[in-house]
Amino acid sequence: MTNNKAKLSFHGAAGEVTGSRHLLELDGKSILLDCGMFQGHRSDADMKNRTFRFPPASVDAVLLSHAHVDHCGLLPLLYKNGCDAPIYATPATAEIAGIMLADSARLQEGDAQYYNKIHAAENLTIEPMYDAEDADKALQHFSPGDYNAPFEPVPGVKARFLNAGHVLGSAMVQLDVTTGAGPRRLLYTGDLGRAETLLLDDPVAPQGVDYLVIESTYGDRLHEPLADAAGKLAGLIKKAAREGGKIIIPSFALERTQEIIVILDKLRSDQTVPEIPIYVDSPMAVSLTEIFNKHRENFCFDEKFREYARLDGDPFGFDYISYVRSKEESQALNHRKGPMLIISASGMCEGGRILHHLRNNLGGENNTVLLVGYQAHGTLGRRLQDGEKKVRIFGLEHEVWARVETMHTFSSHADKNDLLAFIKAAKPARGVFLVHGDTEARAALAAALEAEGIKNVKCPALGEEFELN
Ligand SMILES: [Zn+2]
Repeated sequence: MTNNKAKLSFHGAAGEVTGSRHLLELDGKSILLDCGMFQGHRSDADMKNRTFRFPPASVDAVLLSHAHVDHCGLLPLLYKNGCDAPIYATPATAEIAGIMLADSARLQEGDAQYYNKIHAAENLTIEPMYDAEDADKALQHFSPGDYNAPFEPVPGVKARFLNAGHVLGSAMVQLDVTTGAGPRRLLYTGDLGRAETLLLDDPVAPQGVDYLVIESTYGDRLHEPLADAAGKLAGLIKKAAREGGKIIIPSFALERTQEIIVILDKLRSDQTVPEIPIYVDSPMAVSLTEIFNKHRENFCFDEKFREYARLDGDPFGFDYISYVRSKEESQALNHRKGPMLIISASGMCEGGRILHHLRNNLGGENNTVLLVGYQAHGTLGRRLQDGEKKVRIFGLEHEVWARVETMHTFSSHADKNDLLAFIKAAKPARGVFLVHGDTEARAALAAALEAEGIKNVKCPALGEEFELN
């Protein structure tokens, strides 16, 4: 006998913006919505990541919204700990997840090796949460399915992926279930894109939603309009060409890098800017851009971009941009004179090849560091953004003579107005759960929703459970 009770519980990204894990239990079956890694300081992150609040072996299906590590990064640990369920995702998400999880395993193995080496005398050791083999094992469970194609993750539950407009492959998960009280539709947004983006189509307008689980990252803020990005970039390139300077762009490898490349490609096609050498110096960004190029007719892209890609034939500039994989080629850039533009990772200057480029170029007054993404407190990127004149890289102090510029234009997330408009259009009949936002952002969004007369808005705490009637 089953009681058809549906229960929704929150196991991450409840009151914070990382580690998304939500569990829907119905009729003795469990569906896990995302399995993200908590990203933060080691001790805090370790505790939140290493133990699941539910038995991994009890999960019957995993539905993955997109391939950012804070949404998929714990999949290898889930499978290492006994899960054997299929992972449903769009084909692009499955491909991107392959790159992200391999990279995450490599970083953890490297971190553990380094920690164990420097603490050898004290006999302190740590183990990586998972290694490349564990990542491979999880990847074998992927079951890719296209946008809008219905599928049945567990018997009696109808699911569909809808475009979320956040990054290539990103999807909202729509679930039609039957509870003891009748048929109900639940929509989980994953991360929701903004109404206007450079490459992606708008998020699909939801219909007939009973319960909405929605992110709230920018629940208290508005973004600047997109329009001026190309103009600003063109100005910097002209200046660099005149002065022989280098433009260094620390960038997130997924989506942001490809957005910048397409802006550069359009500037070049329009002959708006002088042709200076462009380098994309990050093996991960190179692999991801290849996936973008392969999927350039993907349904999640805006029709305007698809048309541009068709007319241009090479929207990611493979015929003139130097895509750098090897270390030697990367290091050789240090000895080359400007003008040039280098896009490299990581986006907040916390690791990766960008550190070499900063170390070599911060001292040049004709150089520009262009920040194009959010810079968290305590990161090198934030110190540069705050105008610090001396920064430490690899333990050595460097004077900052280069110009540091920020473009606030870019964001892959809906802002407060986008979120409000989306929720009002969804008209969730029975409840809204705000996740993936810090305390202030989601409180602000909850207040705005209440002012709009939207009832049953919940801000779930970690571990909190709700019965869906
Ligand atoms: Zn995301």
